[in-house]
Amino acid sequence: MKNGTCIKCQSEKIVKVKGRAVWKDWRSYVKATSFICKECGYVEEWVVTEKERSELPKEDSLYDTIT
Ligand SMILES: [Zn+2]
Repeated sequence: MKNGTCIKCQSEKIVKVKGRAVWKDWRSYVKATSFICKECGYVEEWVVTEKERSELPKEDSLYDTIT
């Protein structure tokens, strides 16, 4: 998906939307990017940049989401 081709239907009509918050701790988050196929509707979500990924919580942590 990140390369612009849908993994389900091979369409190249991919829309990127900054979307869901991935919480780092109780007050800050990085935004995941949704890659949406306009042909079949498949949605894939990525934390795209290395900087954003480096800010994520440690592997053994588990933060609840705030609603
Ligand atoms: Zn598709």
